[in-house]
Amino acid sequence: MDNNLKDQRNVALVGTPCHIIAAEKMDHYAEVLGNSPVDFKLGLFCMENFSHFYLKEFLSEKNIEIESIDEFRVEKGHLWAYLKNGNVFKLPLSQAKSFMRKNCQVCMDYTSELADLSVGSVGSDQGWSTVIARTEKGLRALQKAENEGFIDTKPFEESGLNLLTKLAKKKKTENQEEIKKRESVARPVLYRRYINDEEFMNEVSSCQFADLKADVIDVGSCVLCGACYCVCPENIISIEDRRPQLKGSCPPECNLCYMACPRTYLSQEVLNRDLDQKTLGDYLKIVSARASNVKGQDGGVVTAILNYLLDDNITEKVVVADKMDENPWKPNAILTSSVEDVKKAAGTKYSACPVFKVIKDYYNKNPQDFKDDSVKEVS
Ligand SMILES: Cc1cc2nc3c(=O)[nH]c(=O)nc-3n(C[C@H](O)[C@H](O)[C@H](O)COP(=O)(O)OP(=O)(O)OC[C@H]3O[C@@H](n4cnc5c(N)ncnc54)[C@H](O)[C@@H]3O)c2cc1C
Ligand code: SF4
Ligand code: SF4
Ligand code: SF4
Repeated sequence: MDNNLKDQRNVALVGTPCHIIAAEKMDHYAEVLGNSPVDFKLGLFCMENFSHFYLKEFLSEKNIEIESIDEFRVEKGHLWAYLKNGNVFKLPLSQAKSFMRKNCQVCMDYTSELADLSVGSVGSDQGWSTVIARTEKGLRALQKAENEGFIDTKPFEESGLNLLTKLAKKKKTENQEEIKKRESVARPVLYRRYINDEEFMNEVSSCQFADLKADVIDVGSCVLCGACYCVCPENIISIEDRRPQLKGSCPPECNLCYMACPRTYLSQEVLNRDLDQKTLGDYLKIVSARASNVKGQDGGVVTAILNYLLDDNITEKVVVADKMDENPWKPNAILTSSVEDVKKAAGTKYSACPVFKVIKDYYNKNPQDFKDDSVKEVS
């Protein structure tokens, strides 16, 4: 059984639904993009995220320095900031629009529908996580993590399922409306075009970074995942703070960034349109779970499962989002094999994190650690 989990690739990725879509796309087009090292996709539930820059500015106007915050939570229609001095700042999400990222308003995936395992808090008791096993690989990892004592599970209550379904439906319905609104005044939201792989290849054949900029970045659709940076064979994309930028000129034949981006076209073969009819996507099992020896955002289950994957050598490395020491609450993706690093990175940072950037940066420094054709070589 374990051998099925251990194929040749070696990275487990934790990410929001948009990260998981990019990982799936990179997998699906591996022949062109180069084998993705990501072998296990641990998706989070996600309704929205916030611009770190504007969130910090907003809090500062309320005389709250972001450094003084111990924990952020989004629940019950509010953003909650728990301060280190014991005070609590609470803001209705309807008043958080000024620092919500625009790309989240056209996002249709609440529960990471393309992940092996999806984890969130909605539907479970406080201190527990809701875990959706979607693939055989995900289900085996969940069961083995429980058998080996990394997590405890209990049945997911029907009331929890109703609430989860309601929120996922709300996101799909409201954001579909936003998509319609945007399309009536601006360009189409490309990833909602219904095309197959053949049509996809035709559409993207001559698209380069300039097209990515026009179709995704300039229209506020970029999720800042770093997939374009990761696949660029020329290493000429930079992701400084808020958007990817081109730092050179593209060879005539290349279209890899446009192909990999989760906000350009998604073919039916990548995201089956049946999923549009299934509020929570396809899944095999849903449970509530918690890890008693991990301090996580909810049940600590993401951290515990990653630790199980490392401990059992199912994966060699994981990508997690830690906090930046010099800029608190700004997520900092790290690629690590250390259980201590994974534990330190527990907890939710509600801002965009270019998780694929760290894979490319690591590869550029340590190409021997990846299989021959993982991530396109630097030309
Ligand atoms: C932007 C965002 C929005 C979310 N919205 C919802 C929601 O609406 N409803 C809901 O039920 N759950 C939501 N979640 C998930 C929830 O906050 C918890 O992450 C989840 O319940 C897992 O908890 P845990 O205790 O098992 O995880 P932990 O053991 O605490 O591990 C959390 C993992 O998440 C990773 N992580 C943290 N921030 C980021 C980030 N920005 N990008 C990528 N990875 C990150 C960390 O690296 C860590 O490995 C959201 C998460 C994020 C990042
Ligand atoms: S686009 Fe926004 S809402 Fe959608 S998964 Fe990414 S961070 Fe979450
Ligand atoms: S070289 Fe290719 S992947 Fe890199 S920016 Fe240009 S088109 Fe995109
Ligand atoms: S433009 Fe790059 S960073 Fe932005 S969504 Fe597309 S692949 Fe991700």
